[in-house]
Amino acid sequence: MLPNSLVELDRAHLIHPVASYRGHEQAGVRVLKTGRGATVTDAAGRELIDGFAGLWCVNAGYGQDKIIEAATRQLRELPYATGYFGLGSEPAIRLAAALAERAPGDLNHIYFTLGGSDAVDSTVRFIRFYYHALGKPQKDQFISVMQGYHGSSTTGAGLTALPAFHAGFGVPFDWQHKIPSHYSYRNPVGSDPQEIIKASVAALRAKVQELGPERVAAFYVEPIQGSGGVLVPPSGWLKAMRDTCRELDILFVADEVITGFGRTGPLFACEDDGIVPDLMTVAKGLTSGYCPMGAVFLSDRVYETIADGAGASAVGHGYTYSAHPVSAAVGLACLDLYENGLLENGRRVGQRLMAGLRGLADHPLVGEVRGRGMLAAVELVTNKEKKTPLPAAAEPGRRIFDRAWDNGLVVRAFPNGVLGYAPPLCCTDDDIDRIIDRTRRTLDETLADADVREAMTG
Ligand code: PLP
Repeated sequence: MLPNSLVELDRAHLIHPVASYRGHEQAGVRVLKTGRGATVTDAAGRELIDGFAGLWCVNAGYGQDKIIEAATRQLRELPYATGYFGLGSEPAIRLAAALAERAPGDLNHIYFTLGGSDAVDSTVRFIRFYYHALGKPQKDQFISVMQGYHGSSTTGAGLTALPAFHAGFGVPFDWQHKIPSHYSYRNPVGSDPQEIIKASVAALRAKVQELGPERVAAFYVEPIQGSGGVLVPPSGWLKAMRDTCRELDILFVADEVITGFGRTGPLFACEDDGIVPDLMTVAKGLTSGYCPMGAVFLSDRVYETIADGAGASAVGHGYTYSAHPVSAAVGLACLDLYENGLLENGRRVGQRLMAGLRGLADHPLVGEVRGRGMLAAVELVTNKEKKTPLPAAAEPGRRIFDRAWDNGLVVRAFPNGVLGYAPPLCCTDDDIDRIIDRTRRTLDETLADADVREAMTG
């Protein structure tokens, strides 16, 4: 089938996630055909470095034979096994055990989902059930962080704090609350790490006080806020928030959907901060995007309370595809690759990525470079002193994405002119250098735009 007819079929029938439907109909789809390592090729044969690993998920890179073989083997042997009726499959059991062994602290109990959104959604159900089991059903208020992203399910979208996920959808619900982000580049308390930590702890305390400590169930964080623009908290922030939750008797949920599986260096970013959450969510790198899968980790205490609370009755939460054997086989193969070279390579090239991006700081459009490991962002401004964002009328997100694409680079271009990077951990030095070179070329071309120049001199 010719790409042109594919574009027409897509236009007529395929609804794309988080897109302007009318805008997409006009622009048409770009079809990707093949991938190898950190490179993808489109239907016209154009090769691009995937600086965003699909949607920050193809951590292992494309074309990994070990993953493909594991999936194929499992498809032949047993393509599906339900977890209902006390049934199971070997890869799912082995993956749960392997994850529990590697997880921080006593996060020993794993519930598999299909991705991150239903993992977050599952945490809400588990947490509500946990407090019912404890005889505290009134603990039903949830707090998350501004600029946070916790998926697109009906409940998760309300924990998410990005306006596009709320407008027109009737969320957040009245039990979903937010505190300000640690976003250090634009924080009203300034950029001093200790001041930011103090302000966040105070904001959490104040919010719990306002809602009534006996009513608050849980606090959700991403170790690094991804979809909000790769916002890295000051060192010690995560631990301070975790400690505060323990003191206030509210559950601490770490959403590691992006940060898990080597994205920031270790297997889980919580390890960077030496903390153990009460619940943890993962997806994306768990199967490197080869098959859909997510997971919720429950601590011993949360699991035992739920189990005892339910007693002989069923805990009524389940999905047809929970612990899918093919996804689990893929997860095991990914884990093997991570631990036999990929995590180490990611840490090495992550330093090259950060150094390369920091080398762009002298560019007239670069306001801030931030990140950790293979997760980074470059925030563009037209005035460095005033931190003036690129003019919205310039549609910086779309324009920069298109331009980077023409330069052979896939990058996340947020609508406010922040560029996001999350390349596969298998990147070579050359791949990283190409990402940096192509970014600089894209920035130079953007600098030449009349409306951007006008905003800079105006
Ligand atoms: N939580 C976080 C932190 C995420 O970044 C995402 C997706 O980007 C999700 C949850 C939702 O995951 P999914 O898109 O797999 O449903």
